[in-house]
Amino acid sequence: MPKPLTRIAGSLLLTASAAGLLGACSTDGSAAEADDRPLVLTTFTVLADIAENVAGDHLRVESITKVGSEIHGYEPTPGDLRTASDADLILDNGLNLEAWFAQFVADVDAPHVVVSDGVEVLDITSDAYAGTPNPHAWMSPLNVQTYVDTMVEAFSDLAPEHAEDFAANADAYDAELQQVQDDLVAEVEALPAEQRAIVTCEGAFSYLARDAGLTEQYLWAVNAEQQATPQQVADTIEFVRANDVPAVFCESTVSDAAMQQVVDATDATFGGTLYVDSLSEPDGPVPTYLDLIRHDADLIVAGLTGREVDGT
Ligand SMILES: [Zn+2]
Repeated sequence: MPKPLTRIAGSLLLTASAAGLLGACSTDGSAAEADDRPLVLTTFTVLADIAENVAGDHLRVESITKVGSEIHGYEPTPGDLRTASDADLILDNGLNLEAWFAQFVADVDAPHVVVSDGVEVLDITSDAYAGTPNPHAWMSPLNVQTYVDTMVEAFSDLAPEHAEDFAANADAYDAELQQVQDDLVAEVEALPAEQRAIVTCEGAFSYLARDAGLTEQYLWAVNAEQQATPQQVADTIEFVRANDVPAVFCESTVSDAAMQQVVDATDATFGGTLYVDSLSEPDGPVPTYLDLIRHDADLIVAGLTGREVDGT
């Protein structure tokens, strides 16, 4: 079993090192090169990328969940808890995104900061989650400017000697967020008013839809359900037919099987895979958060206009 072995190897290494008994591998400088920057742990890959933009090289940033993970109902592993015990700061999204997080942080000592604090929250309007906050606040680049403010404060508490750099990094990143926001709004505004509808698996686009003036329809409210009921499929088919929606979408972290039923029952085509809850691998279509918003905006507009889009 790999886990106990890792633990034993780790403690042997520590003992040997402390006793000065380690052989050649300790004299080649590898120990001296160990990364001693403070460790910031985020709950998912999107937050990690945003945090890296603020931190620059001054902090080590890692995500608990990996690329492609379903993040709402994630179950932390013993390895995650060991990593968290080394963390100097943990960032979570909040707004009930990480259902597993309260128990997780109860078991670790590192301080934690909720990065969505201060954003204007939209509530979920249907299903069992009606009236609770929609957690996907990062799908608005303007909200992410608030996330960035919160990170600057938290990082400056953690490493005050780099506070000026964090603020400067944040200013530069804020300008990029604004540009992505402006491009998104301009792209959607170029569509005929009756084509401004977004149909997805998860109701994850409420903030983006609000920013861009899109009408939103989805199969299920949050991925914790992730199994479309016959009623949800029927409602979505009705919406697509009634609004003559040309393309529908699904997200990278869930199955698109239910949305394919909608495609089969209507004139809509499947417009492609949108990214919300996870980045892609570095060589994939959305290695960064800014890429994620650009990719989704391009794909949505291409689907609604019947235009071809690269890389999908
Ligand atoms: Zn989600």
